[in-house]
Amino acid sequence: ALTAGIVGLPNVGKSTLFNAITKAGALAANYPFATIDPNVGIVEVPDERLNVLTKMVEPKKTVPTAFEFTDIAGIVKGASKGEGLGNKFLAHIREVDAICQVVRAFDDENVTHVSGKVDPIDDIEIINMELIFADLESVEKRIPRLEKMAKQKDKDSMAELELLSKIKEGLENDRPVRALEFTAEEAKQVKNLHLLTQKPMLYVANVAEDELGNLEQNEYLKSIEAYAEKEGSEVIVISAKVEEEIAVLDEDEKEMFLEDLGIEESGLDKLIKAAYNLLGLATYFTAGVEEVRAWTFREGMSAPECAGIIHTDFQKGFIRAETVSYDDLVENGNMGKAKEAGKVRLEGKDYLMKDGDVVHFRFNV
Ligand code: GDP
Repeated sequence: ALTAGIVGLPNVGKSTLFNAITKAGALAANYPFATIDPNVGIVEVPDERLNVLTKMVEPKKTVPTAFEFTDIAGIVKGASKGEGLGNKFLAHIREVDAICQVVRAFDDENVTHVSGKVDPIDDIEIINMELIFADLESVEKRIPRLEKMAKQKDKDSMAELELLSKIKEGLENDRPVRALEFTAEEAKQVKNLHLLTQKPMLYVANVAEDELGNLEQNEYLKSIEAYAEKEGSEVIVISAKVEEEIAVLDEDEKEMFLEDLGIEESGLDKLIKAAYNLLGLATYFTAGVEEVRAWTFREGMSAPECAGIIHTDFQKGFIRAETVSYDDLVENGNMGKAKEAGKVRLEGKDYLMKDGDVVHFRFNV
């Protein structure tokens, strides 16, 4: 499964957020694959559409889809030079598909800051520079070998060398790979390099509980947003403390709590959705009387591949996918009426599934 890693300097609220994730996940009793790895937290992906489908179909049970976060502790200045648990930290980051960087945006005299003062940009740069250094090292290691092969006029090596030189120049100017511009052809190659700063980044601004309702006054937040915009990254605002408190509440209690704070959606829910989108994930639904269920797929997956997510036999014996978009289904009120209206399509093996497709797979056994 794709996973997003949570990183941040010490004392910014990482563990508090991760606790919220595991507590929220523990409530999600639907997941038999409860993990034994204490650094992994599995949460349900909030999706209002699932509630609507449940009301429509009245199934015996409803199963949301899940998403995984990994807690990556241990970043310190000098990590790329192997200081502290540096190497281990970088190895863990290498394994995740996206990075959620928790940044402290709250004042609290009782909570020590590692650099002695709260300065979100300073904090972000400590982490980002370590990742840039690590990438620079990987790139520099590879270049001499390519240069040798490029001398023999090896076309692929020449192209890669050019690409790596471009990346190196970017890194030397403190630009993460995700902020550089590439042609479509280059972009494909960049993926294969598995560089740390190529991974999509989400900044998670941890603000004080009493500021959640009036964020305009938070100068820290403004600077984080400006920084993220420069590299085309997104910022999610949370109060880790609030999230930890509401993680154990049921839906109604949670709603009341959030209303009191003057916010509509919990920060964790926003974070889950943002991380999910960042990874290019989408949701399709199956909606039978036994079970209404959301399934995660990667954008660009075909109907048989999506069928294979449910069961490999569904993919092997795939015949057709009876498909209706969520909007068409809701507009028509139920499956029967959607069919009458000609909104239910029979899609074949080349069909690329879309977010919100409600599908019934037909297959041979
Ligand atoms: P970590 O080292 O990044 O994992 O940070 P922790 O989650 O352990 O938090 C460090 C300290 O900051 C703890 O005492 C938390 O209670 C406190 N803390 C975390 N989030 C907030 C917050 O939003 N507001 C305030 N005032 N304190 C917080």
